[in-house]
Amino acid sequence: MRRTIAILLLATWLSPPAAQAQGRLNVITTTEDLAAIAREVGGDRITVESLAKGYQDPHFVEAKPSFILKLQKADVLIAVGRDLEIGWLPPLTTQSRNAKIQPGGSGYLDASLTAQVLELPQGQITRAMGDVHPLGNPHYWLDPENGKRIAKAIADKFAEQRAADRPYFEQRLATFVSRLDEAEKRWLATMAPFKGTKVVTYHRSFPNFAERFGLDIVGYVEPRPGIPPTPQHTLDLIAEMKRLNVKLVLVEPYFDLKTPNSIGRATGAEVLVVPPSVGGEKEASDYIALFDYDINLLVTAIKKAGAR
Ligand SMILES: [Zn+2]
Repeated sequence: MRRTIAILLLATWLSPPAAQAQGRLNVITTTEDLAAIAREVGGDRITVESLAKGYQDPHFVEAKPSFILKLQKADVLIAVGRDLEIGWLPPLTTQSRNAKIQPGGSGYLDASLTAQVLELPQGQITRAMGDVHPLGNPHYWLDPENGKRIAKAIADKFAEQRAADRPYFEQRLATFVSRLDEAEKRWLATMAPFKGTKVVTYHRSFPNFAERFGLDIVGYVEPRPGIPPTPQHTLDLIAEMKRLNVKLVLVEPYFDLKTPNSIGRATGAEVLVVPPSVGGEKEASDYIALFDYDINLLVTAIKKAGAR
């Protein structure tokens, strides 16, 4: 009798599987790009929600009290890092009093740690003059190679939290990487004829994208990352664009089009709103769809503008 009870207890303890017993991993990300990649890797073993929306400037997100509640219940917090969220996230994580998701905590992941980050600062690190990229360019997710690195880091973090589900996360990671590999080949082939196309962008959101797909970014509407356009900088930019015959200005969806449009009128360049994030446009509904959308938009505009 006692032996039967012991076996029954053991059976109860062993099944259902540990993951099921623990419930789904509750994942919060700062951006929709990270949420999209987490979804690919986590499948039905996680729930995931992004704090920022893809149509918002990720540097300047309104810190809502509801975010604190979400962070209180989170098992994992994934951030872009490199100070992208410095203006809004730290007070929220502190106020959540959730030890797991504080920087350095077991449930915290800074996705930039394994990514290739461009524009690393030389010498002393400072946010002087309002530059919002003091630790290198934080828009590194716009290179599918970094997408793979982020996915791997996320799979490792999930497996740390749910050891029993490691094979599941690794399988999902492998599937995502192979889909991304295939898509990347297609994107590179589509962009190849337009290699070296000169563009101007509003903010420094696209250096990783430009490096991967062969665009030549020759200037920015912002004088420095996070600093609004000034009349003198705009005049200098117009002169430079005329000199180099630049026919495209890429603008993130959350910036005012007034200055870009005046630059377009002065230079004959087309102003193109290009979402740098999943959810920045309805069609950019996941990580692969974001590149599909942006590349299609760019190629159509380059052909139309005869920008090469
Ligand atoms: Zn930025």
